[in-house]
Amino acid sequence: MIQGMIVRNALLALPGRDQPVPGSLRVEGGVIRAIEPDPRAGDDREIIDAEGLLVLPGAIDPHVHFFDPGYTHKEDFYHGTAGSASGGVTTVIDMPDTSEPAAIDAAHIEAKRAEVSRRAVIDFGFFGGISGALCDDRLEQRIAEMAPLVCGIKTYETSGAVHFPRVSHYQYTKILPLTRKHNAIVLVHAEDWDYVGNAMADARAAGDGGMAFYRSRPEIAEVLSVFCVTEIAEMVGAQMHIVHLGVARAAEIVAGRRFSTGEACPQYLEFDCTDFERIGAPLKITPPVKGPEQKEALWQMLADGRIDFAASDHAPGTVEEKSTGSIWTDYSGIPGGPVLFPYIFSEGYRAGRFGLARLLRVCSEAAAERYRIADRKGAIAVGRDADLVFVDPDGETVIDASTSLSKGRVTPWQGRRLTGRVERTMVRGRTVYRAGEGITVDPGYGDFLKPTR
Ligand SMILES: [Zn+2]
Repeated sequence: MIQGMIVRNALLALPGRDQPVPGSLRVEGGVIRAIEPDPRAGDDREIIDAEGLLVLPGAIDPHVHFFDPGYTHKEDFYHGTAGSASGGVTTVIDMPDTSEPAAIDAAHIEAKRAEVSRRAVIDFGFFGGISGALCDDRLEQRIAEMAPLVCGIKTYETSGAVHFPRVSHYQYTKILPLTRKHNAIVLVHAEDWDYVGNAMADARAAGDGGMAFYRSRPEIAEVLSVFCVTEIAEMVGAQMHIVHLGVARAAEIVAGRRFSTGEACPQYLEFDCTDFERIGAPLKITPPVKGPEQKEALWQMLADGRIDFAASDHAPGTVEEKSTGSIWTDYSGIPGGPVLFPYIFSEGYRAGRFGLARLLRVCSEAAAERYRIADRKGAIAVGRDADLVFVDPDGETVIDASTSLSKGRVTPWQGRRLTGRVERTMVRGRTVYRAGEGITVDPGYGDFLKPTR
């Protein structure tokens, strides 16, 4: 732990401000102790000169699949957190269902924490999971024991994973009163099971390729699911969050609810089903990208606050898994952790879709508040962790999976040029990544985060 440090000559991105504020930060014990116009003279601390750079709160990526332990041929906590750090992310929250064993109770969560703590280079939290197979007489005990350890509880209304079956509407009416009682947010992968199940046969009969896969789970599948699950949450008064929104109508439903929030992912803002037909498996994700008319509508809702924040849904597959010869069997998921913040910075903020204050809400503050880690994370403020990203706002980022620090090599983003370049990422006052140098801390530097109760 570094005892004392000064970041000086910075253009600071402070909460609620659309103009960066010139100044310096005094950091002690990994925490921001002062925000000052000029550093105090006579200090013998480490000094980092941020001349010409915008210094923002580190991005929070509240939706990643690092597959660790169990499927580390796709990704692991070292490569996953390293890739995220290279994209300005200082905290990730990892999903429960794509590790072996799945993180479905307190014992599994503690075991996963012990395992991945040795590899993380940035701070991390977990989501726990409840599948339809776990709605038995131990359900309340599992939720009660998990709730203090995790940022939320992930469920699937339609699931592709045999070992992690879907939750039915009836089961949500049993789960949500318990998560309300034990103060946990339920996250939902929202695609209507009845619609998808019936559309699949027609879509498969119609052929192969991106458009065929899209037709098995089009806009209406998301709208129906979001309407139903958020209606149950309203009825119960339970906190709910809808992950990876790809449909503006579904996002509108979420925005009209009292107890639900939603997230956008770069892939649904950038790509549509015509891109999917052209690019194929490298863009295969579930839910699939939607019609071209959705993209600007989603951007608008992210800008005006109807969509709460952004996340990557990082979930890379190997070259072999992504090239099986049919879109129906190719792995569904893409690497997005390193892309999340640079993309939103470039296409949201620098492209003028929203201002600096909204960028901070979308990339850091709102997720920290929603998942109750805002006592330490999410903003440049006295008393918060010195989690910072230093950005050259006029620099350029070119997405290149072949040199990514993540294991993900198959990406629809290959060659995408973005405005702005992450020069340095800092977690609790320590530089964890520098452009041109890579990761600058040992595996295991990252700390496990629990939500405040
Ligand atoms: Zn996901």
